[in-house]
Amino acid sequence: MQATTQLIHSIPVDPLTGAISVPIYQTSTFVQDAPGVNKGYDYARTGNPTRATLEGLVAQLEGGSTGVAFASGLAAIDAVVKLLQSGDEIIACDDIYGGAFRLFEQVYKKFGITVHYVDTSNPEAVFQALTPKTRLIWIETPTNPTLKITDIRAVSKIAKAHKAGGSDGRVLLCVDNTFATPALQQPLLLGADLVVHSGTKYLGGHSDLIAGLVVTADAELGQQVKFLQNASGAILGPFDSWLLIRGIETLHLRIRQHSASARAIAAFLEGHPVVDKVYYPGLPTHPGHLVAAGQSKGFGGIVSFSLKEDSIEAATAFVTSTELFKLAESLGGIKSLVSHPAQMTHKTIPAEKRRAAGVVDGLIRLSTGLEDTEDLIADLRQALDRLELKAEKAEKKEEKVYA
Ligand SMILES: *Cc1c(COP(=O)(O)O)cnc(C)c1O
Repeated sequence: MQATTQLIHSIPVDPLTGAISVPIYQTSTFVQDAPGVNKGYDYARTGNPTRATLEGLVAQLEGGSTGVAFASGLAAIDAVVKLLQSGDEIIACDDIYGGAFRLFEQVYKKFGITVHYVDTSNPEAVFQALTPKTRLIWIETPTNPTLKITDIRAVSKIAKAHKAGGSDGRVLLCVDNTFATPALQQPLLLGADLVVHSGTKYLGGHSDLIAGLVVTADAELGQQVKFLQNASGAILGPFDSWLLIRGIETLHLRIRQHSASARAIAAFLEGHPVVDKVYYPGLPTHPGHLVAAGQSKGFGGIVSFSLKEDSIEAATAFVTSTELFKLAESLGGIKSLVSHPAQMTHKTIPAEKRRAAGVVDGLIRLSTGLEDTEDLIADLRQALDRLELKAEKAEKKEEKVYA
């Protein structure tokens, strides 16, 4: 059976009523026959049947043993960090999601957890950063917003060899798989120990919920994460669990269309005169293209590009003149979104550091939605043409001044 068929039919029909949609168990507790004698559930923080269906579904999607659903992507990341102890070290990708950076630096640092940020697209840099205290390697691939690619197999080998090489403990590899999704990339099958997701993005897929997930390769690690979920309590509620299941049902179909449109958009952008660089792992010119092709089935729905006129003003003019691409944070929904990282997601990063990472003033990120590809390209074209016209006018004016 193919993956999509299996996925759709792994969602159980309700044995009680035959309901084809998963019931939403909106309850806090479960009646017991005698103390400790119950039907598998006793209190809904510890376990809820709707959430359990989602957790099983995501574990299957990622090819893992255990899925654990949280109230947000950051709550999922938080649970993974809680596997560590004071004094442990993390090696993380240097263009990590801003929220994870804030959590590491402003919450966990004061509990004695240190993070070393390196360019993980170069596995040698990960190797060099290892110390006897390293317990976790944290990667995103592709990254946000320049879509840098890290070789999951290579980094997993480094993590595993470190333990074999006499370090005093296991080094876990965790991949934030939010951008690629398991429809394209399954890190656990490439050697990772954990996967985290912001379910808010592609898994939910409709920009209507906030959710997070952890999936572990082995059941023992899964039990540790489940323990933390119950002990710390940041669970996903039953209605949002149901929404997320509903989103996942169409994940493969949506990702196929997101990816096809993104590829066409990347090609279009490359040919437009006001565009400088185009970032899309599906382009043969992308430095991570071959690694991405070797570890994922496709290249996803996010495209970033920079404008030749590298200014906040030009970028602002662009992001306020698209019509179908709505200006908003977030990504992965059915409606196309545009964002300007320098003024939005990356505004707290010092300008010099931000620019050095390729997030220049004129960089724009697109989340390709499910509208018709030609309409999306037409929308981008009219907004880019407007910039071109403006540039031409400015040039003429300059000529006049000098004449
Ligand atoms: C959005 C996002 C997160 C955080 O998820 P929330 O659901 O917003 O808490 C983490 N990682 C990546 C890559 C994201 O895009």
